[in-house]
Amino acid sequence: MDKNVIREYIKNNKRINYHFDYEEDSGKVKLFNDEGYEIDPKIALALAEELNHTYKNMSEYDLNEIKKQNAENEYWHYTLCYGPNSLETAFRKNLKRKWSFSCKNCGKKVSSDKDKSWWRISGPNYESSNKYCSKKCIDPIISDIRSDLKASMYKSFDVQ
Ligand SMILES: [Zn+2]
Repeated sequence: MDKNVIREYIKNNKRINYHFDYEEDSGKVKLFNDEGYEIDPKIALALAEELNHTYKNMSEYDLNEIKKQNAENEYWHYTLCYGPNSLETAFRKNLKRKWSFSCKNCGKKVSSDKDKSWWRISGPNYESSNKYCSKKCIDPIISDIRSDLKASMYKSFDVQ
């Protein structure tokens, strides 16, 4: 099929979700759209040929770049939903009882009557009782957690 025809088809059908079906009896793989219609066989064949052209002789470098991109996407989605992020909380004024803690990073004493706010790590998987005196103190902690997270994403996507 003419490459321009397939280019037009892809451009006009960007919103289709494709579904593959494997027919047990015949061992054939078929392509359907999200409404359950089988894709025009000529189009399906042209798509298969283009995919073959794209992926057949991929270099290790290109394969790794795809894995890396997928790992980066996973990292981005994960951190967007689950953090970790830094969260500043202001000390309430007129507290009946003052309270204080020592910054988990620098050890400085932070107290409700002398300081304006305190920091903690937020994100459903990162709850802890650790408290920090400032953004400057919490940022390196967040950064370490995020680098470990990224390394584990790279590992799970087998990025070399
Ligand atoms: Zn500190």
